[in-house]
Amino acid sequence: MLRVFKSFFLLELLRGMRLTGYHFFTKKITIQFPEEKTPQSNRFRGLHALRRYPNGEERCIACKLCEAVCPALAITIEAGPRQADGSRRTSLYEIDLFKCIYCGFCEESCPVDSIVETRVSEYHFEHRGENIMTKEKLLAIGAWQEAQIAKDREQDRAYR
Ligand code: SF4
Ligand code: SF4
Repeated sequence: MLRVFKSFFLLELLRGMRLTGYHFFTKKITIQFPEEKTPQSNRFRGLHALRRYPNGEERCIACKLCEAVCPALAITIEAGPRQADGSRRTSLYEIDLFKCIYCGFCEESCPVDSIVETRVSEYHFEHRGENIMTKEKLLAIGAWQEAQIAKDREQDRAYR
């Protein structure tokens, strides 16, 4: 009986039209990307980077915690003593961005704040193999983004 009543008075149609009318008159929030951008959190998880200390020394101590914690098995590390001073360093550090799910566990696990995820979200690959982020590429991103990373870390500490 109720179904007949609803069908006769086109109640479902009117409910649909009410929703259409509501969205027709409310303020639109379309963002004109890429000219306009939405605000980003200082904890945004974008492209990875390896950081250095202000004196230029690599932060990474090759503890492999990030490799162990990565749920996507996206990180590959080989390590050994550095020739110059015998300190333990990575001889190979790679992240496969096709495997990475941007969970941030690597960043969370790192005891020296070496591997981080930057705010960089606009990047693409054109050739086979470019998805593998080598140590050199990660350090270069770290150098490029260091000012922003340091600022975000400072902001993070202020919240705690
Ligand atoms: S963000 Fe997550 S999935 Fe990506 S490399 Fe780090 S731990 Fe692995
Ligand atoms: S990036 Fe951090 S967690 Fe990963 S091996 Fe280096 S020091 Fe360890």
